[in-house]
Parts: sequence; structure tokens; C-alpha cells
Amino acid sequence: MDSAPPPAAIRRLGQNFLVDPNIVRKIVALAELSPASTVLEIGPGRGILTEALCQAAGHVTAIEVDPRLHTFLSERAAHLPNVTLTLGDALTCPIEHLPIGTIVVANLPYYISTPLLFRLLAHGNRFVRMVLMLQNEVADRLIAKAGTSEYGVLSVMAQYHAQISKAFKVSPQCFRPRPEVDSAVVLLRVLEPRGRRSEQEQQFSSLVRAAFAHRRKTLVNSLKNEGYDSKHVETALTKLHLSPSLRAETLTLEQFLELAQCMEDPT
Ligand code: SAM
Repeated sequence: MDSAPPPAAIRRLGQNFLVDPNIVRKIVALAELSPASTVLEIGPGRGILTEALCQAAGHVTAIEVDPRLHTFLSERAAHLPNVTLTLGDALTCPIEHLPIGTIVVANLPYYISTPLLFRLLAHGNRFVRMVLMLQNEVADRLIAKAGTSEYGVLSVMAQYHAQISKAFKVSPQCFRPRPEVDSAVVLLRVLEPRGRRSEQEQQFSSLVRAAFAHRRKTLVNSLKNEGYDSKHVETALTKLHLSPSLRAETLTLEQFLELAQCMEDPT
């Protein structure tokens, strides 16, 4: 192993490195890896999780945006035969080549955790499950139920694609430098596709985003503000026996799916 000191953390890149081996063990156990598993890790950093993943899985692809950490880890990982270290931005770099059934395991950079989640969910057919360290507040939004203040676009879209559980909370003490927020590890088991065509999925996602675009307004008014025909929306709500005065946050995922279906096919 190389004995050069690791590069200093850059906070704006979300570099809060895990230093607690017990948390690393718990994350790896939750991922249920075997020598046949292929893993995608986002942001390997100094490699504490990467090394454990390499021991438990068949192959690990790790995407790191910071060239200093990429070089540091490439030198340290010389003894790991089953890792591909990629220098790139996980928001844009290709992931389509990863085998179907890949498992995502990551201590995510928090400043982009939401767009990264949306990207991973959009490639959900490739990933079988994901074990992710997130801000505790984002974990709560992922599992939020209708009628709560945490419930929003992220909750509906994530629960559309996956069965989600919050596995355990992680204290700031387990990182260096310490993040200013509490963290939590979530497990997302990606669901079978719901049999909708890709343009229907796109319409569903646009409807959910438009519904929550103006949280203080009624669902009808929020959708109207986003360009939907309010008569059309009201007709669909009546057909579903839903009040035209309700707000988006009271609709369950199933009700959003019914609304999308009804608006697509009003007959
Ligand atoms: N996995 C390491 C650990 O647990 O100690 C590091 C986790 S740290 C919270 C997040 C890592 O993501 C950092 O290494 C950071 O440089 C990297 N990162 C930040 N933005 C990224 C991006 N857009 N694409 C890929 N990696 C990124």
C-alpha cells in the first residue's frame, strides 16, 4: 500500500469520508453481496467502502469526480484485481454498460444526492437494489407517506420505482470531516417495471412534478399553473371520487397512478 497521505477533503464536493469500520460492515451486509455480484459505487473517495465491496463482490465499478482522489485510490487499489476506477461525474458519465442486476452501494455526495437518486431510478431496470447513505432528511422524504410534510415528488417517484426502507441512522461522528446533518442508510429494492410505456412514464413523472410545483395551491390550481386544462383535471378527479379542493400531498401513489391513467384515457 502507498503511504502518501490522502488528499484533504473538499467540502463543496461532499467529501465527508466514513471512518467507522462498523458502519462499513453494516452497509456491505445490507447489500447482500456474493462473488457473483456486480457493484456500482458512486464517489469511492479514499476507498474505505470500495475495499470492503471488492472483498464481498465479484466486480466493483467506482466513479469518482475528484482527480486527486482518483489518483490516490488508483495507487492504493493496485492490489485489488476486481475494481474499475472511473474518473468522471456520476450525474453524466455512462452507466448503460453496467450489467443488468448491478447493485448500487454508495455513501453519496449530499450536495447532489437528489439528482443522483433520480438518475439511478431512471436506470432502475439495470439495478436490482441500492444501499445508499443519504442525509437523514432525504431518507425521510424517500419513505414519506401521503399527508405528511416530507411527502413530495421524490417520495412518489422513488416509491413508484422501488420498495424502500430506512435501515439505520448514522451520526456525524462516523465521518471526517463531520457533516452538519444526520445521515441514514436506506435500502431500495427496485420493483419490476409497472408495464407502462416510456412516454406514459414520462407523462406520469411530469404530472407528479406539476402537482407539487405549487404546494400551497390545490392540486387543480397547481396543475393549471403548469399548463394542464383544469376542466380535464376536475373531470378526472370527479371520476375518481376525489375532491377538487384537495392538495397534491394528500394523494397516495396509487391515486396518482389512477389520476394519470384517467387523464390519459378519459373515456
Ligand atoms: N465513499 C467514500 C466514503 O464513504 O468515505 C467517500 C464518500 S463522500 C460522502 C462522497 C464522494 O463522492 C467524494 O469522494 C466526492 O469526491 C465524490 N463525488 C462528489 N461529486 C461527485 C460526482 N458528481 N460524481 C462522482 N463522485 C462525486
